[in-house]
Amino acid sequence: MASSKSEKVTSVKGMNDILPLDSARWEWLEAKVRDLMARYAYRNIRTPIVEQTALFVRGLGEVTDIVEKEMYSFEDRLNGEQLTLRPEATAGVVRAVAENSLLYDGGKRLYYMGPMFRHEKPQRGRYRQFHQIGAEALGFPGAEVDAELILLANALWRELGLQNVRLELNSLGQPAERQAHRAALIAYLEQHMDALDEEARRRLYSNPLRILDTKNPALQAIVNAAPKLIEFLGEESLSHFNAVKAILDANGVAWTLNPRLVRGMDYYNLTVFEFVTDQLGSQGTICGGGRYDYLMEQIGGKPAPAVGWALGVERVLELLKEQGRAEVNVAPDVYAVVPNAASLPRAIAVVEQLRELGVSVQIHASTDAAGSMGSMKSQFKRADASGASFALVFGEAELERDVVAVKSLRDGEGSQIEQPLAQIASWGSTLQSRPVH
Ligand code: ATP
Ligand code: MG
Repeated sequence: MASSKSEKVTSVKGMNDILPLDSARWEWLEAKVRDLMARYAYRNIRTPIVEQTALFVRGLGEVTDIVEKEMYSFEDRLNGEQLTLRPEATAGVVRAVAENSLLYDGGKRLYYMGPMFRHEKPQRGRYRQFHQIGAEALGFPGAEVDAELILLANALWRELGLQNVRLELNSLGQPAERQAHRAALIAYLEQHMDALDEEARRRLYSNPLRILDTKNPALQAIVNAAPKLIEFLGEESLSHFNAVKAILDANGVAWTLNPRLVRGMDYYNLTVFEFVTDQLGSQGTICGGGRYDYLMEQIGGKPAPAVGWALGVERVLELLKEQGRAEVNVAPDVYAVVPNAASLPRAIAVVEQLRELGVSVQIHASTDAAGSMGSMKSQFKRADASGASFALVFGEAELERDVVAVKSLRDGEGSQIEQPLAQIASWGSTLQSRPVH
């Protein structure tokens, strides 16, 4: 616990500050998501960041990357509870739905946004605190809801102006079908024992399907040629899969079958999918999801079918940047120049009226504790730097005549007019120029 006083306290590795300029892009994206979720009639849910460790161990599966090596787990010092910072939110949402009996009157369509925590090696597109936006539909067994969720994600890319995103689909079938495939998979992998890495060998009998999800480049050829789960699916699973595909086709959503797509958690069955891009290097999956009809039961709830996805916000924003779609306007509409501190009370009263009218106003602040406002030149420098479209100058002479000078900062000539303070309601809102998204 000892640390020198002069040592700088820094952020935790892999956990980043999102500074104002970047944060504006986050807010832009979040606003788009909220709007779109409302159009698909998905409602927001907010679950705790800390959950019982057992939720993830039981929900995600013991032999998964997340549970084996990525969770931030700790014992509560006060009561000895085993707790974990959520590595994903689906398990928490399912727990919340069960605990609050949300399905008593039918299925629920939900979405969330927030930070997740995984102890991974930090690199581009991979952090220890990262953020997901997710959509979950619980209580619906039909393929049309799988398709709805894919259409929803697809619509989001469109709203964001995101390009070069490809959809990969697979079906994991049902547990009995997986059982049959498992035997064939083990037999196949046993023939390649020598080539398997340590992790794959360890998982060979506990969770061989997970081996298909390996990130080890040396194993790609072997897993590519492995028996395909899709070939073990029965009629019911195939017809569910075909129904999803038919809806995607009818809506012009292109997809490719990826028989190796198994996803990182054990809770999936039937439809699984990922949206991937080639523009982000090796962290190319921006969104992944699928059906998880057994998770509810797994964590002790009343069985209920469910399907959902989660997208990685950092990766989506990075891809937008990559595609030159990253600019957002954070400038205020107006910068209020106040030459003399004595004018502040009146100037602030006017500024408050403008804000009430919906205008964004940044007011010049005094530069020292004695209340000095600084020169006009320095105030206008700040006004320009703020990016505001207009400067309002609250000079003493103007205020005496109950007017304010409105100077355009954008038209090049710096044209200036006077406006009467008594009629602020009629001209105030014309100063508003921020794009409404
Ligand atoms: P990966 O294969 O890249 O490790 P995953 O299968 O573990 O991803 P999911 O658990 O499906 O990822 O999470 C959904 C999305 O969240 C991913 O597609 C990705 O965009 C994002 N994501 C996952 N882990 C991280 C991370 N450590 N840092 C940033 N984003 C992440
Ligand atoms: Mg991962």
